[in-house]
Amino acid sequence: MLDFLGDLQRTHMCGALRASDAGKKAVLMGWVNRRRDLGNLLFIDLRDRSGITQVVFNAERNPAIHKKAEGLRNEYVIAVIGTVKQRDPNTINKNIPTGEVELVVDELRLLNESKQPPFLPGETVLPNEEMRLKYRYIDLRRDVMQRNIELRHDVAKAIRESLSAQGFFEIETPFMTRSTPEGARDYLVPSRVQPGSFYALPQSPQMFKQILMISGFDRYFQIVRCFRDEDLRADRQPEFTQIDLEMSYPQQESVWRVVEEFLLASFKAAGVEIKPPFPRMSYDQAMRLYGIDKPDMRLPAMTDIREALTPEELEEFTSKFRVRKDLPVQLIRIPKVGDISGTERRTIGTYGAFQHTQGGSFVQLMTDPKRFAKDYPALSEKVIQFAKVEADDLWILAGALNKPEIAAVAEQSLQHFCEKCGFLRLDLAQKYAAKHVAFEKSGDPEKDFKFLWVTDFPMFEWDRESKRWNAAHHPFTSPHENDMAKLEANVHSVNDPKSPLGEIRALAYDIVLNGTELGSGSIRIHRQDIQSKIFQALGMSDEEARSRFGFFLEALEYGTPPHGGIALGLDRIVMILAGADSLREVIPFPKTARAVDLMVDAPTPVSDAQLRDLGIQVKKS
Ligand code: ASP
Repeated sequence: MLDFLGDLQRTHMCGALRASDAGKKAVLMGWVNRRRDLGNLLFIDLRDRSGITQVVFNAERNPAIHKKAEGLRNEYVIAVIGTVKQRDPNTINKNIPTGEVELVVDELRLLNESKQPPFLPGETVLPNEEMRLKYRYIDLRRDVMQRNIELRHDVAKAIRESLSAQGFFEIETPFMTRSTPEGARDYLVPSRVQPGSFYALPQSPQMFKQILMISGFDRYFQIVRCFRDEDLRADRQPEFTQIDLEMSYPQQESVWRVVEEFLLASFKAAGVEIKPPFPRMSYDQAMRLYGIDKPDMRLPAMTDIREALTPEELEEFTSKFRVRKDLPVQLIRIPKVGDISGTERRTIGTYGAFQHTQGGSFVQLMTDPKRFAKDYPALSEKVIQFAKVEADDLWILAGALNKPEIAAVAEQSLQHFCEKCGFLRLDLAQKYAAKHVAFEKSGDPEKDFKFLWVTDFPMFEWDRESKRWNAAHHPFTSPHENDMAKLEANVHSVNDPKSPLGEIRALAYDIVLNGTELGSGSIRIHRQDIQSKIFQALGMSDEEARSRFGFFLEALEYGTPPHGGIALGLDRIVMILAGADSLREVIPFPKTARAVDLMVDAPTPVSDAQLRDLGIQVKKS
């Protein structure tokens, strides 16, 4: 028989009682996390989101209640009224904050029963993820998940407070809208009232936030859901949450300061003291030094050793190793790896992303520094000094293979070569993670959280598949003022891979943390004439631009102030702060890699009647 809650009220949460409460009456409510039956004494660990309290049913003190308690099972929901008692010193549990006390029960109310759950929140061994997602409500009861979701709340709250204090208004923008310019596939919502027409779910509120600047709100932010139909990875979800903001009359630095301020506040809410301002690095520099536009700075950069050599030495070295001297010769080093076997050395470059992207095909590797030192003692000494190689570092050299037939391939550009080296650096970093331990938390925020602003991104990037220039960020991004002439001169070269369009810098920036891109933003185009030029350069006819973004182009003509902004991934930030390895660990109801919600079982087919209403016919495959 179940009891009613009636007007019984909790006096404490399950994580609250301390030794100083001994002797007090208390009313606790929660789930039966675990029970131990010692005959006359029955112990229950009672759990709620704040923690666990041990409650005791004593057969001698109260036989009827003890009898009732014998029927309790895992995950039953109960209320207990009792007296807080200090535990005997030898039964104190140091692992939990309430471990010095227990509640001796005088009254028990059984509020609800539970079927035997497929797994128990209190167990340390986890079931597979499919099970966790199907029974997400049970999974979310687990201590770690409760903490992750609480952390998410704390972080979001700190961000809201910080941005509000910095003069930003939180303003909502529509979910049912039209295609936005982020370049992924849209999720579509069919219109019933206008059959054959569709809303698109926003990939971001980009145009709305710019319009809010045109509307005079000066500073806008929103913690907002965005929808992108992309192939999923561990750090992607079809719907994800951005901290989206836009401001009027900014320099790039003003946007960066705003972000640094709210990151400082939100990390503080998570107990981490970071120290802005964050370092800055241009895109070109990042590519040369790290071979990637989101450098993980917890490990050393690559060193182009050409500068350390005399022209004669460089000549000799590059010809012996058959590498080009007009491209960098990169020294890649991973600290603290120590000695590795010859076999292990020989496999360098045969695994991970480097191999996967066929990096070996034109990257020449020197993976045996000992042999190198024997053959070229002077050179080796110089290189080691120049690149500040330490005794237990693993280091290798990578050069661009000098074969005429390969050199002829346009792709063997500086950027392409550096990218390959960057992959290799990251492969090695992964492989020897247990040795260098740079990816483990040390407790020192300056080492554990390496922030970086990457700046001066290219405005356009060449798309090898469609053989055309695309906007590298989005088409509303402003080019550098001093690159305007170049833009003007090259608006008709969208299909020319050699076009100087590739040299135009954008006022675009990314914020990177530990090799993860947390967010991107830019100063926007606020002038209609420049916006048209960009569309033109992207090969978009006036008509096409009008039909896709007409309302926006028109809005630009009504006194648009200079403006700019950024959007950061909230899920990613929380994931990193939680030390989790998947976004699913910090999103209450996430989707699988196949974009399925296993708990509610979505997506699903819909009824014929619904389809008829929408004027939609589904092809049977
Ligand atoms: N809308 C952009 C994005 O989602 C961010 C921005 O430019 O503010 O990546």
